[in-house]
Amino acid sequence: MNEKEIMAMANENIMNTYRRFPVVLVKGAGARVWDINGKEYLDFVAGIAVCSLGHSHPRVIDAVKEQLEKLTHVSNLYYTEPQAQLAKSLVDHSFADKVFFCNSGAEANEAAIKLARKYAHENMGPDRHELITMKDSFHGRTMATITATGQEKFQFGFTPLLDGFHYVPFNDLKSLEAAISAKTCGVMLEPIQGEGGVNIPDADYLASVREICDRYGILFIVDEVQTGMGRTGKLFAYEHSGIKPDIMTLAKALGNGLPVGAMLATDKVAKAFVPGNHASTFGGNPLAMAAANAVVKTIMNDNLQDHCVSMGEYFMSALKKLQQKHGIIKEVRGKGLMLAAKLDIEAGEIVNECLRQGLLINSTGGKTIRFVPPIIITIQDVDQAIEVLDRVMEGR
Ligand SMILES: *Cc1c(COP(=O)(O)O)cnc(C)c1O
Repeated sequence: MNEKEIMAMANENIMNTYRRFPVVLVKGAGARVWDINGKEYLDFVAGIAVCSLGHSHPRVIDAVKEQLEKLTHVSNLYYTEPQAQLAKSLVDHSFADKVFFCNSGAEANEAAIKLARKYAHENMGPDRHELITMKDSFHGRTMATITATGQEKFQFGFTPLLDGFHYVPFNDLKSLEAAISAKTCGVMLEPIQGEGGVNIPDADYLASVREICDRYGILFIVDEVQTGMGRTGKLFAYEHSGIKPDIMTLAKALGNGLPVGAMLATDKVAKAFVPGNHASTFGGNPLAMAAANAVVKTIMNDNLQDHCVSMGEYFMSALKKLQQKHGIIKEVRGKGLMLAAKLDIEAGEIVNECLRQGLLINSTGGKTIRFVPPIIITIQDVDQAIEVLDRVMEGR
């Protein structure tokens, strides 16, 4: 089938929930993908911060191939070694004592919301069931997670939402404290807001939220679905603040493209779940676990967090130079390789022209372009992306 036929078949048969770019991708390697006509693209979207080790990473391919030929799925009625291994390595490398596996970010957050409610029900009384989340946050597309998401555009048309959610501005401690009541059981936030536009909080914000949660005896839940797995220069973004959350969720980059999510918690909180409370048929299947084990090992062995820090600094300073040259760039922000540029024109124009010139980027909101490239990128990759951006912005 050719490009036109594939796009027509897709449009005729797939539900209309995505606005897609008119490109059919057929293969990827490292930070590059190719379309059906053989055109090459530098991929600074990475499947929305998913393919952090780049496309077709040899260690992930080998691990998945080997597991595929042995055992793909048996359900959680039985033990498997890849699942035990991944749980141990996530526990070893984080604040957490226990892990629950699922298949996506929304599911991980759904599990976190259920665990927080169950913990509160048993330890704080049945009235303490409310969660405070942030304006401009993004936590997923299930009913509970669109309710947790503090953006009306994701909720419109789907009411009634879940009871018991309150929203406060991100990075605003006064509003947070004012919103806490005798019914509050926890606070849930992204350490850096992703879909909301790569919003970075003040340096002491997370530590202060932790202090407030401790003072009121409520849970602190961090959604690291996008920030986790090295993207910000630490394995988990909460590490930058020197604090420990009570619950954390992971997904996107955990499997480098194989669907996998995880919800982690301290023993104290995790104890609220007992057999029968929560489950997932596919969650923790050996195939996804094999991919995620390869991802964690590769990040650690290759010291990709430090690579991400240096590439992030290089990219950030290049973007700042670009900002001096092009007045349309109003602000550059980010941490590690989670970066954004706020423009004073519609981002779509720039994104579409970059695509034509062989660079994949995307936009969050109307005027912000976002960069979440694979964390294995090189100086040459950054230089190439900056060259394209420079050309595209010329004269606008
Ligand atoms: C992408 C994302 C989600 C949702 O993940 P899905 O796998 O699409 O369900 C949740 N939280 C954050 C912070 C995200 O970036």
